[in-house]
Amino acid sequence: MTGQTAPAQPGAQISVDVPAKINPHLGVGDARADGFHALSTVYQAISLHDTVTAERRGEPGIEITISGEGAGTLPTDEANLAHKAAKLIALYAGIEPDVKLHLNKRIPVAGGLAGGSADAAGALIACARLWEVEIGDAELHRLAGGLGSDVPFCLKGGTAIGRGRGEELTPVAAKGTWHWVVATTDTQISTPECYKEVDRLREDGIGRYSSDVDPIVKAFEGGASADDLARILINDMEAAAVSLRPQLASLMHGGLEEGALAAHVSGSGPTVLFLAHDVKHAVALARRIRMRGGAKSVHLAHGPVNGPAA
Ligand code: ATP
Repeated sequence: MTGQTAPAQPGAQISVDVPAKINPHLGVGDARADGFHALSTVYQAISLHDTVTAERRGEPGIEITISGEGAGTLPTDEANLAHKAAKLIALYAGIEPDVKLHLNKRIPVAGGLAGGSADAAGALIACARLWEVEIGDAELHRLAGGLGSDVPFCLKGGTAIGRGRGEELTPVAAKGTWHWVVATTDTQISTPECYKEVDRLREDGIGRYSSDVDPIVKAFEGGASADDLARILINDMEAAAVSLRPQLASLMHGGLEEGALAAHVSGSGPTVLFLAHDVKHAVALARRIRMRGGAKSVHLAHGPVNGPAA
C-alpha cells in the first residue's frame, strides 16, 4: 500500500479498527436502471467499531473466524464480505491468498450501521498490509466500490457526502464532535427489504427524495450545536423501517421522552440513534433508555472518527 508496509513473516498479525457509519442525512431517490437507488447522503463514522485481524495461515486459502456480534450465525465462507475482500485484493496483486482473518464484531448485524461493509474495508486494508500489496488510494477505492456501496466510505471514515449509490464520496471538514446513544433492537432489517418498502410506500404517495445535503454539510462544517443538528437530521428510509418494524416508533418516542434531542433511524434500520447535547448527557440518556427497556443493547458513540485508510 502507498506509504504503508508491514511485516509479513509467518505469525505476524495486522489489526485494523473499522468504524460503523451513520447517515445524518439519507436522501433516497428512485430506483435506477441498474436496480440501485440514487442516493444523496451524508455519512459520518462513529466510535463503535469492528476489529479485523489478519495473519498468515501458512498454506493457501482464506479462513474466517468471528467473535462478538453475529458469531455463530454469520457466514465464515465466501458469503462473508471480508472473505470477498481478501479474495479481491489477492486477485488484484496476482497472488494466492494465504490468510486467517478474525473479525471481532461490535457493530450490530443488519442494523443499518454497515458492519459487513466495515469488515470488508478492514479486510482490504489488513490483507494489503499483510501481503505488502502496492496499491494506491484510487485503486483501493475502486475495489471497495465493487464490494458494496458503503465500503468506500468505511475505508475513509470522517464525514463525507455520498452520491451515486453512495460510493461517490466528497469529504466534509466537520468541525466538532457529536454524541449519540445507539439503541439496537432484537430484530433485523435487510437493506433490500427496506428499499422494497420505500418503493411500496412511494406507490401509495408516501415519501420524498431529500436530495439537498447543503444544510447538514454547512452545519457540520460550521460546528453546529447538537440542538441545531437535531433539527435537520433526515432519513428518507425512516418511514419504511418503521412500517416494517412498528416497535421502532415506541423506541424512538421513549428516547425523546427521556430527553434525546432527536431520534433518528440509522440507515435502513432498525438501529435507532439518539442525539445528545454532550458526552455527559449521552451517558445519562443511555442509562435512562436502558432502564426503560425496549432496546436490545444501548451503546455510547461519538463522531466523526477516522477510517482505516484516512
Ligand atoms: P448496510 O447498512 O451497509 O446495508 P447493515 O449494517 O444493515 O448494512 P450488515 O451488518 O452489513 O448490515 O449485514 C447485512 C448482511 O450482510 C448480514 O445479514 C449478513 O448476512 C451479510 N454479511 C456478510 N458478511 C458480513 C459481515 N462480515 N458482517 C456482517 N454481515 C455480513
